[in-house]
Amino acid sequence: MSRFFSDKFAALTPYTPGEQPRERRYIKLNTNESPFPPSPRAVEAAAEAAERLQLYSDPTARALNEAMADLLGVEPDEILFTNGSDEILNFAFGAFCDDTCPAVFPDITYGFYPVFAEYNRVPYKVIPLKDDLTIDPTAYYGGGHTVVIANPNAPTGIPLSRCEIEGIVKANPDNVVVIDEAYVDFGAESAVPLIHKYDNLLVTGTFSKSRSMAGARLGFGVGCKALIQDLNTIKYATNPYNVNAMTMAAGVGMLADEEYTKNNCRTVAENREYTAKALRAMGFVLTDSRANFVFARHPQTDGGTIYRRLKERGILVRHFDTPRIDQFNRITIGTREEMDTLLAALREIIASNKSEL
Ligand code: PMP
Repeated sequence: MSRFFSDKFAALTPYTPGEQPRERRYIKLNTNESPFPPSPRAVEAAAEAAERLQLYSDPTARALNEAMADLLGVEPDEILFTNGSDEILNFAFGAFCDDTCPAVFPDITYGFYPVFAEYNRVPYKVIPLKDDLTIDPTAYYGGGHTVVIANPNAPTGIPLSRCEIEGIVKANPDNVVVIDEAYVDFGAESAVPLIHKYDNLLVTGTFSKSRSMAGARLGFGVGCKALIQDLNTIKYATNPYNVNAMTMAAGVGMLADEEYTKNNCRTVAENREYTAKALRAMGFVLTDSRANFVFARHPQTDGGTIYRRLKERGILVRHFDTPRIDQFNRITIGTREEMDTLLAALREIIASNKSEL
């Protein structure tokens, strides 16, 4: 730390992103990226946009907003696009939390939430997941907090139903409820249809997972016009051109090819069920994930050991050294071939561990 770093950030512990190794080619199953490239329509659109990079991008992201509004059945001014969904989540912590209205989220969830709270200098409280790692929706009823819930939750992949989400939104009429739907397209129910019924619901989404654009950084929020206006105030106070022109064009290209996205989501969901079945046959215990990853532990083999042995074999998964979940690994769903390589490696690791016991 330099002697100039402001005291206000001295105690800030930043988020640790998953490994993005460049030194060797891994089968990368650690950061929930799509195994498929973006649609050719997105790639072409981005290349065309590159020819006009001397100009600033459209700060209103009109073309994107219109295309997304069409898809979601909302108005363009009920959407705000950002530089990844991390940015809109950060905006939401800044806009809707303060000393009188602390944030609340589960103890086991997306690791960025406490960082956003600390960065924005707002208090927060965590509510433990139940023993089976599910969220108890009623624990979020009417506590006077801004509620933040990933649905499906990460890293468990376990979803709440739209009805359960509606219960939370209804029970907090004077507080914003943020539903982070980064993984919703792989088999959970979106809460977007509820935004016309409740003025306290903000739903966030990303093009990083189901739409294969993690490297382009594109996320969005959907909510009533007043909530979106508040978030726009923060955006225009920090970075009006937060979405670059190539990403914007690629995003419009992706939305013009929804069949492609739907097919990829279907394939990922099939590969998830295939992988889950094979893992259970090997003795793994899994949560009921509806996301593009599984969350698995083996009763006889330590979670950290599995992570390291896979890495030695060129396969990266995500292991969290966090109490309650340190026996688990979160494994992103890749192509069928990648999953077969993973399963073969795990069979070896489990067998060699047994012979060592
Ligand atoms: N929410 C959750 C639950 C996530 O796992 C992620 C991905 N790390 C994000 C939001 C942010 O994704 P992005 O900024 O790439 O849109």
